[in-house]
Amino acid sequence: MSKTIIISNRLPLQLEINNNSINTIPSVGGLATGMKSVHSGSDSIWIGWSGLTEEKLDPEKRNLVQKALKKHQCVGVPLTESEIDGFYYGFSNNTLWPLFHYFMEYTEFDKDNWETYQSVNQKFADVVIENLGENDTIWVHDYQLLLLPEMIRKKKPNVTIGFFLHIPFPSYEVFRTIPCREELLKGLLGADLIGFHTYDYERHFLSSAQRILGLEINFNNVLLENRIVKVDSFPMGIDYDKFHNAAKIHNEKEKKDKTEIQQKIDEHLVNGDRAKLILSIDRLDYTKGIANRLRAFEYFLDKYPQFKGKARLVMLAVPSRSNVPQYQLLKNEIDQLVGRINGKFSEVSWTPIWYFYRSMPFENLIDLYTSSEVALLTPIRDGMNLVAKEYIASRVDKKGVLILSEMTGASKEMSEALIINPNNFEEIADTLKFALEMPEEEQIKRNTALQKRLKRYNVEKWANDFMESLETKKNSAKKYS
Ligand code: UDP
Repeated sequence: MSKTIIISNRLPLQLEINNNSINTIPSVGGLATGMKSVHSGSDSIWIGWSGLTEEKLDPEKRNLVQKALKKHQCVGVPLTESEIDGFYYGFSNNTLWPLFHYFMEYTEFDKDNWETYQSVNQKFADVVIENLGENDTIWVHDYQLLLLPEMIRKKKPNVTIGFFLHIPFPSYEVFRTIPCREELLKGLLGADLIGFHTYDYERHFLSSAQRILGLEINFNNVLLENRIVKVDSFPMGIDYDKFHNAAKIHNEKEKKDKTEIQQKIDEHLVNGDRAKLILSIDRLDYTKGIANRLRAFEYFLDKYPQFKGKARLVMLAVPSRSNVPQYQLLKNEIDQLVGRINGKFSEVSWTPIWYFYRSMPFENLIDLYTSSEVALLTPIRDGMNLVAKEYIASRVDKKGVLILSEMTGASKEMSEALIINPNNFEEIADTLKFALEMPEEEQIKRNTALQKRLKRYNVEKWANDFMESLETKKNSAKKYS
C-alpha cells in the first residue's frame, strides 16, 4: 500500500516529559489543521523534529519518545543542540528568513551554519529514505528544508516529491546575493511540484532558476535534462468554520460565561468609553511592521485629533525568537514607542494604545476579532498573513474593516480589504479615518465577498488542491516513462 509522507521542521505536536511518562499535545496551528485531511487514516506519516534535543534524552526516554510519536503516526529526526543552533537559529532564521523577506541588512552568511544546514537536511533525508515505501508520495514543507527534495531524489530517482514554501520567494535581484544560491535552487528542483502562496513568488523563483542556473522555462514548468518540474501557486487558507463557529458561540454567550478580557472590553463600552477598537495581532518580528504601525497611528492622531478618545489601538505582539539580538532590539523599540505615544496622548479616561506582549488562547483571539471595528495589519513583508483571514472569518455580523498591507500574500486574494503601503503614513492615517467612518452597508458588502472566498478556499481545500496537482504530475510522469 502506498502512503503520503509529510515532512516539516517541527512535528505537529509538542512533547512534555513527566518523570517516566511522555505527554503529547497536538498543535492547533494552520499547517497542522490543513494537513488533517492528508495526515489521517493509516496511509500517512509525518517526519520532523520533536522539539527535544538529544541531550535531553537518555536511551530509555528516547524509546518512550519514539513510541509516543508512533501513536500519532509521527517519526522523529534526532537533532542535537548545536545542530538546532546552526540549522534552525543560524541558517534558517538568520540567513534565509531575513533574505527571503527582503531584510538584506539582517542577513548573515556563516559558513559553519550553512554546513550544519546541509548536514541536518541530509539527516532528514536519511530518515525519509528509511521510511519510504514503493510508490509513496512525499510532501516537504518550508524554508528549513530547501535541500531535501534533491537529497531524496539522489537516492530514489523515481519517487514523487512536492514542496511548499510558506514564506515569500524574493525577487531574483535579492535572491542572487546569497553565496549558496545554486545549491538552494538545485535542492528545490529535486521536487516534481513546487508550490508558493502567490503568483509573484512563483515568478521570482522561475526567473531565478532561469538566470542563475540557465534553465529553460516553459510557462510554469522548469525543463531539466530528464524531468519537468511544475511550479504553481496555492494560496493557503484557514479553517474558516472553526473561526466562524467560535465567533457565533461567542456572540451568544451570557455575561457570566465570558472571558475576563471580553468582560473588560464590555465594561469599557458600558462605561461610555466608546472608543472604537483598532486591532493588530502578530508575532513580534521585524517583518511585521509593528514600529511603522505605531508611528503611523501617532501620525493619525496628530493629523485627525477628532479621534482622540474615540479610537484605540489594541496591539497583541506574540513573543518570538526572543534569544536573537535583532528581536530584542525590536522589543525595546516597540516598548519605547508605546510608552511615548501613550505618554503623549493619554487622557484620564482614554489611553490610545492597549499593548499585550504575550500569546493568547484561542477564545481570547476570538474576543479580540469580534470586538474590534478595524483590523490594522501592516507587515513590511509577509508570505501570507493568516490573521487577516481569521479576522474576517470571525465577523459573523459581517461588520468590521480590514486594513491590509500590500506586501502580504493575503492582499492578493483580499481586494475588498483596504490595501495600503505600510511605509506610507499619510495613506495609513487617511485609510484609518476612512475605515472608522465607513457606513455599515459598505462593510457588509465587502465582508460578504471576502467571507464567501475564505469559506470556499479553506485550508483543507488548499491541502487537497496541492495533493491533487501532485498526483496528476505523478500519473503523467508514469505515462511517459
Ligand atoms: N496566534 C496564536 N496565538 C496568539 C496570536 C496569534 O496562535 O496569541 C495565531 C494566529 O491565530 C495565526 C498565527 O498565530 O493563525 C499567525 O499566523 P500569520 O500567518 O498571521 O503569521 P506568522 O506568525 O505565521 O508569520
